[in-house]
Parts: sequence; structure tokens; C-alpha cells
Amino acid sequence: MGFDYDLFVIGGGSGGVRAARVSAAHGAKVALAEEHKVGGTCVIRGCVPKKLLVYGAHFAEDLADARRFGWAVPETRFEWPVLRDNVLAEVERLNRAYTDTLNNHGVEIMLDRAVVTGPHGVRLADGREFTARYILIATGAWPMVPDVPGAEHGITSNDVFHLEALPARVVIAGGGYIANEFAGIFHEFGAQVTIVNRGETILRGYDETIRDRLLQISMTKGIDFRFNCRFERIERAADGVLRVETAGGDTIETDLLLFATGRVPHTSGLGLEEAGVALDPAGAVVVDADSKSSVDSIYAVGDVTNRVQLTPVAIREGQAFADTVFGNRPWQVDYHCIPSAVFSHPPLAGVGLTEGQARNRYGSVRVYASDFRPMKNVLAGRNERALYKMVCDSETDRILGLHMIGPDAPEILQAAAVAVKAGLTKKAFDETVALHPTMSEELVLLR
Ligand code: NDP
Repeated sequence: MGFDYDLFVIGGGSGGVRAARVSAAHGAKVALAEEHKVGGTCVIRGCVPKKLLVYGAHFAEDLADARRFGWAVPETRFEWPVLRDNVLAEVERLNRAYTDTLNNHGVEIMLDRAVVTGPHGVRLADGREFTARYILIATGAWPMVPDVPGAEHGITSNDVFHLEALPARVVIAGGGYIANEFAGIFHEFGAQVTIVNRGETILRGYDETIRDRLLQISMTKGIDFRFNCRFERIERAADGVLRVETAGGDTIETDLLLFATGRVPHTSGLGLEEAGVALDPAGAVVVDADSKSSVDSIYAVGDVTNRVQLTPVAIREGQAFADTVFGNRPWQVDYHCIPSAVFSHPPLAGVGLTEGQARNRYGSVRVYASDFRPMKNVLAGRNERALYKMVCDSETDRILGLHMIGPDAPEILQAAAVAVKAGLTKKAFDETVALHPTMSEELVLLR
């Protein structure tokens, strides 16, 4: 049976672009539909512009610290429109680069919304219909906004990069990745930030001591936290100010409300269930270890499967799909020991089991920690301490988890994660000579 394409990819984000490009390189005839911009959440409205804002925000501390290092820094002023426009220009450049890569590999890009019409059928919003031997769903996830009266007055991470002006006061709903990263960014830019969290912990899933340290540092900086706090309603007053009423009866006045309350798989209206594709209760495409859905010709990778909502994981899933289905080189993604980081101020990062998870699984574990004030912070008079923590199996000495908070923690953890993934022991770290003076030397000096 002849199909228009070997592969039709719906969604031009990290997973979809990788799968399309590699499948084409393996010789497949590939089309990719994207309703917004090629690059997806990570490049257009996520990791990349966020990290650039984190860099921009960090200058607030760097400029203040510079004076302690002898620099006569004149009075400084932050201009949001300059950073915003430079970041958006970089996003445009990346969008073009991703588009060029696909074009260079012969992938046909269709800038339109596509829906599935059957196991081999796809229809674009402009009415055109195509057939494909395989369809890959790579539509990602979308910010979830809680059902609260007045929620339409808030924005999500999709909108935050485009703000006309910097708000003086920001309320952030949620206590996860986006909440803590943007709390740091807005705080450094000079806004008064309040995090409103429905539970009593931030960053569920990260090691408790590490997130406690972030909480303590953030509170010391002046970020306000409300825990066990639910929104009752949000109203916009005539003067433009938002009034956020909480279930406890408190009203918080703010200029901006950012919902950072999780992201849900982007499957609504895609025609998947009608085509026989099973979705889980959260709306995620249910897939096997090869990313194949309940329909043999339909696969899914990335956030839309709700396995691990991280860009490098989506990229691996896209690569494994392409190599397996079109490259005659089957392999499956290994989800064990995935490092992750939160680009808060300061950032934190972790790999493997938290202390709590390790105790539940292994019973007895040994924990080594270094709680120190980085040299630069000492001279800068900045009273912020870093914390590194290694969790080991007490019988074998094997490292089960490594967690850190402090300057450059994600950069340091990426290298150390290789050792944890390789199953090395604490002894292997002890036997490595320290590189002095660095922060990362603490890793081989843990007691
Ligand atoms: P997270 O899952 O990190 O956090 C969601 C937060 O919202 C939690 O505090 C959660 O509380 C709370 N929440 C969930 N539902 C509701 C609700 N109905 N009402 C009120 N609060 C609610 O999501 P984010 O939106 O911050 O980020 C989405 C995903 O994007 C992340 O999970 C991550 O995978 C990815 N991401 C990764 C980054 C990185 O790698 N650095 C950066 C940004 C995003 P509770 O804990 O009680 O569930």
C-alpha cells in the first residue's frame, strides 16, 4: 500500500524535530506539522529563553558583588525591554536554525495544526489530508491553569517572555520548577515575589535538605511563601491591580499572576481516541518501551507521553524511535539515573535517589554532606551556603544519589552524574585528587 509519507510527525519540539531529522537521515520520507513555531516549548517558550533570563537576572548579584572585588560600579539600572527583545531575537534565530536543519534533511515542514484521522491518516487545519506509514505524536504539554474564578487574569510561562513591562509585584501559583525559577528571576529584577503553594513543600521529588536550603535562602532574600494556600478568586480592579483572594481569607494585591501549576499532555482535540489510541487519565498517550501507542502505526515521544517531562529525555525518545523504526538499530531509552536541575537563585541539581527514597528502598544508607560557604560568597559578604549531599548504599558503598545546591550546581552535577550512572562508589570519589580551589572539590572531600 502506498502512503504519501513514511513518517508524519505532529509537533516540532525537541522530540519531534529529532525524530523527523534522524528518520529522514535514515532514508524515510518525512513530513512535520507544527502549529506554532519549530523548536517547541524548550526553544520557544521554555528552557532556552528561561536560562537567558536567569543569566540576565544574575547580573543583579554580580554587580553588587563586584564592588566587594574592587570595582567601582556606577549606579545601575535594569531595562527589561532590552533583555526581552534580545532574548526573543535569539529565540527567532534558533527557530530559523531548527527550520534549516529540517529543510537540509529533506523534511517537509507544514506550519499548520494537524489532527489524526485514523491509524495512517492526518488532516491539516487547511483541509489537506495525508497518509503515512507511521505517525509520531510529539505535541508536548501545555500549562495547566486551575479552575478558579478569575483565572483568566493570570498568565502562564507561555506569556511571561513577552511582558510589556516588568511588574513591581508578582504572585506565582505553584511550588515546582517554573515557580522557583521565575521567583528567582523576578526577585533579582527587583520585583516583590510571593509564591502561593497548595501544599507545604516546594519542588516535590527533590531531596528534602536541598529544597529546604533553597527555601531558606529564598526567604532570606525576601521572597514571600504561602503554604497550604488555595486560591478562591482573582479579580482585576479598575486601576489594573489584581486582587488574589485565598481560601484562608487573605487577599494579596499584585501586578502579575503567573500560574506555574504543572503541564498537561497536549492531546485534546487531536483525534487520537477516535483513531483507537489509548490515553491515560491525565490525557497522556500510553506507550510501550519503544514509544509505540496502542495503535501499531502510531508512536509518541516527549511530554505528551508524560514519562519524564524533560527536553533531553524527549530528544532521546525521538532518536530511539527513529533508529528503531527507520534505522534498523533498535534500542530503548534507559530512564535510570536521569539528572535534573532547577535554575533557581542559587540553582540546585540532583541525580539518583533522594535520601528518603534510598532509605525506603535500601533500609540502611550512608549520607555524606558538605555544607560550605563558597569562597566567592565569603569575599562578597554574601551569607549563602552551598550544600552537597551524597547518598550511598551502606553495604556496597555504591552512590545511590547525589544532590547539590549552590553556584553552578547544574554544571557540576552533569559531570558527577556520569559517575553515579556508571555505578561508582564513594571510594572512587575519595581516590580522586581534589582540584583546588574549586567548589566541586567538595565532592571528593565529603565526610
Ligand atoms: P511542577 O510539576 O514542577 O510543579 C507544579 C506545582 O504546581 C507543584 O507545586 C504542584 O503542587 C502545584 N499544583 C499542581 N496542580 C495544582 C492545582 N490544581 N492548584 C494549585 N497548585 C497546583 O510544574 P511546573 O509547571 O513548574 O513545570 C512543569 C514541568 O516542566 C516540570 O514538571 C518539569 O518537568 C518541566 N520543567 C523543567 C525545568 C527544568 O528542567 N529546569 C524548568 C521548568 C519546567 P504539588 O507539589 O502539591 O503537586
